[in-house]
Amino acid sequence: MTGNYSRFDVPARAANLLLKGARVIDPAIKLDQIVNLHVKDGVLHVISGESVPSGADVIDLRGHWITPGWFDLHVHLREPGKEVAETIATGCMAAMNGGFTGIACMPNTQPPLDDAASVNWVRDQARGFPVEVNVIAAVTRGREGKELVDMSEIVEAGVRAFSDDGGPVKSSAVLRHAVEYSNMLGARIFEHAEDKYLADGGCMNESEWSTRLGVAGIPTIAEAIDVARCVLISEYTGGAIHICHVSARESVEQIRSAKERGLKVTAEVCPHHLLLTDEMCKTFDTNYKMNPPLRGEEDRKACWEAFLDGTLDVYCTDHAPHSWEDKTQEFDVAPFGIVGLETALGLALTHFLNKGMTLETLLDRVVYAPRRILAQDIPSIAEGKPANLTIVDPEHVWKVDPETFKSLSHNTPFGGWEMKGRARGVINRGYALIQTF
Ligand SMILES: [Zn+2]
Repeated sequence: MTGNYSRFDVPARAANLLLKGARVIDPAIKLDQIVNLHVKDGVLHVISGESVPSGADVIDLRGHWITPGWFDLHVHLREPGKEVAETIATGCMAAMNGGFTGIACMPNTQPPLDDAASVNWVRDQARGFPVEVNVIAAVTRGREGKELVDMSEIVEAGVRAFSDDGGPVKSSAVLRHAVEYSNMLGARIFEHAEDKYLADGGCMNESEWSTRLGVAGIPTIAEAIDVARCVLISEYTGGAIHICHVSARESVEQIRSAKERGLKVTAEVCPHHLLLTDEMCKTFDTNYKMNPPLRGEEDRKACWEAFLDGTLDVYCTDHAPHSWEDKTQEFDVAPFGIVGLETALGLALTHFLNKGMTLETLLDRVVYAPRRILAQDIPSIAEGKPANLTIVDPEHVWKVDPETFKSLSHNTPFGGWEMKGRARGVINRGYALIQTF
């Protein structure tokens, strides 16, 4: 790449930028062509021909793709409470580095995000970044599973999703009321589907591998039973439910049949459940410990097929930073979760794209579907629209080095993996980041 771009290695104002020579792809408006884009004070202009607006920073993006900004629907920022693992600022930097212009963050901080003031506080911390932070608020006060939060106050603050993620909403009565009430407000419940009694004490998939390794298992039905409960509650109330991080074949089947019946059930899948299986746990490397756990090959295949056919609507990371001290404990005591923001795009381009999945479908799963589910505006690469863009170098070959992550935490199972395709930068909210790797 050539051109005057190095000052955009940190987010700078997208005051006057000419993005030159990239393949610009926005399937929603049937756009796929090489065209120059001018970003002026954060607003997009499509330039015909080779004219250069006066004073513009010209960025030569031949060989690159520009798509509408990618969105990660499931992220854990650890602020407030565990700033040693991640802050809102470092989470935004990780998101930018990974090519995301928007994220939705979960409320299981300490204290949990369970009122409008805490939601507004989180959003305020993300000012000055080309990343929108959409807060998913807690379903119950303190995430204690008892009393519903003040949903109308929180929806008024712009929130469209509620979750007690980290765990399920244990009481079916509370879940039912949460779905009914959020539905009235045009919002949606995001359920971490897990029957805590069935999962009790488990720290990997219940399988031949858990038996061999002598590790307590979490059966697939611990997830699928809660998915079935959510489907029934959605059907009974007419309300919308989103199933987080689906990992099991039985869950996929429940979701598929719910969709066939026209229910308002949506779901998401994470890269690790599409690429890894429980056999990886045999090294006792805690970077293979997450919840829901890595499953067997049958489950992995079922998730992949459901991801392809749209039964699983969204590709997201469940980015779960943990400090080195926490994550290097023994397998059975280490916390669940891995970081994902800085590897998701590379994994998708390397392992999904043109291996059964088209770019149009992939963009649906990471650009359009997450925003539809959160009832957010869909970015469009059209004249006069706000510039909300992800710039991708599809040919760049690189190796994942967790030490170079912008995230404060490095707990990934993908360290050392070779990738083809990397985020060159993001533009959003009037700011641009363009990396000089
Ligand atoms: Zn979860």
